[in-house]
Amino acid sequence: MHSNDDMREIHEECGVFGVYGVPDAASLTYYGLHSLQHRGQEGCGIVSVSPDGVFRRVKGEGLVTEVFNGDRIASLEGMMSIGHVRYSTTGGGGIENVQPFLFRHNTGDFALAHNGNIVNSKELRRYLEDRGSLFQSSSDSEILAHLIKKQSYDRNAPRIFAIEEALNMIEGAFAFLVMTSGRLYACRDKYGLRPLSLGRLGDGYVVSSETCAFDVIGAEFIRDIEPGEVVTIDHHGIRSRRYSEFRKHDMCAMEYIYFSRPDSDIEGRNVHSFRKETGRLLYREAPADADIVVGVPDSSLSAAMGYSEASGLPYEMGLIKNKYIGRTFIQPSQALREKGVRMKLSAVKTIVKDKRVVLIDDSIVRGTTSRRIVRMLRDAGAREVHLRIASPPIKTPCFYGVDISTYDELICARKQTAEVCESLGADSLAFLSTGALFEAGRRSELCLACFTGEYPTALYQSIEEANKESKN
Ligand code: SF4
Repeated sequence: MHSNDDMREIHEECGVFGVYGVPDAASLTYYGLHSLQHRGQEGCGIVSVSPDGVFRRVKGEGLVTEVFNGDRIASLEGMMSIGHVRYSTTGGGGIENVQPFLFRHNTGDFALAHNGNIVNSKELRRYLEDRGSLFQSSSDSEILAHLIKKQSYDRNAPRIFAIEEALNMIEGAFAFLVMTSGRLYACRDKYGLRPLSLGRLGDGYVVSSETCAFDVIGAEFIRDIEPGEVVTIDHHGIRSRRYSEFRKHDMCAMEYIYFSRPDSDIEGRNVHSFRKETGRLLYREAPADADIVVGVPDSSLSAAMGYSEASGLPYEMGLIKNKYIGRTFIQPSQALREKGVRMKLSAVKTIVKDKRVVLIDDSIVRGTTSRRIVRMLRDAGAREVHLRIASPPIKTPCFYGVDISTYDELICARKQTAEVCESLGADSLAFLSTGALFEAGRRSELCLACFTGEYPTALYQSIEEANKESKN
């Protein structure tokens, strides 16, 4: 759905997928990653373990369909495999940061893939470097790997203890998959910020950032990995351990609002249903006097449907997205764009002409996209454009692996709603309340830090410092 799109202002960092105990594990991982492609388009990789314990890896920059072909998948033998799709934020781009990582160690090789961001990575990196660790990449995953290795040396105990100790040292948002020659470990941060679900396939198991990948390969959802839990999967089946007493369910609200695919369920709540409900609640909180409801494709369509149902106003396809724009598409230059060349999105003149339009969008980051769309609708003849946003104003950056622009770029960080409305050229503007997100999610805990500035974890530096760093 969200192809590498100049309209997109927020990027998720990654998606992970793992298979245990199923023939052709790498092929299944390929299909799993393909359905998680919206979570990262910069690079991807798969590591498999053959029955004789040999780790093989294929990774590269680009989309899943670009990096893998039949021969490459066939080279990844075995019934165990983990994979990763990446959008580069922390650590930057470059092949060395494409996951999964593979580590050779005298206590046994292992592979690692992760989604999220460690907030105390600087402190941990210093701690590990002082003790002789050498880093090959700038990724957070390598920190966890070094911590696991270090604990394995120190304790000479089963690897699960080393993993638990390592997880207890890292702070932040993460879903980790660790694969050894005979086991798959699936771990989630104790705040519950990033999703990770467990499924069954034949006699084996699958783990995925999103449940939509289960449907694609015919796996059956078992349950979500709990915050602060490590699930071990091996020939004994599945075992669960709690590595931390502390536990919250602060799921990233943006997973529901924007990132996840509508056919995924996050902690028991379907994403499309959540979005549709936010649309209904948006109408309750901010009705608009208008003729038609139009959603910004694709992630705002569910909310637009909800708004339309609640208001009784017809839902119309006033905006069309061109689906066939891939990574290699030659984007129109700024000059051509100013002349009106629009590739990604166009307004449908005969639908919006002379109409008062309620335009539903899922969020506003910098405001550039919204401004462009409002303009586009007016150019197509819309009489009025009432902008309704199915989330609260984004006011502060995210430190949990989501690439939301820095303070200076966030249009709502310093402007009041009326000023934002004027700057976007809309006739009216309203946002959804934070209360409505809890109501739509049917839950009492969520991370809302980019709206409220209340971060669920310690940040290990001031917001200003972190903000400055994320700009560099
Ligand atoms: S700050 Fe926002 S984007 Fe980041 S984890 Fe929390 S809700 Fe998600």
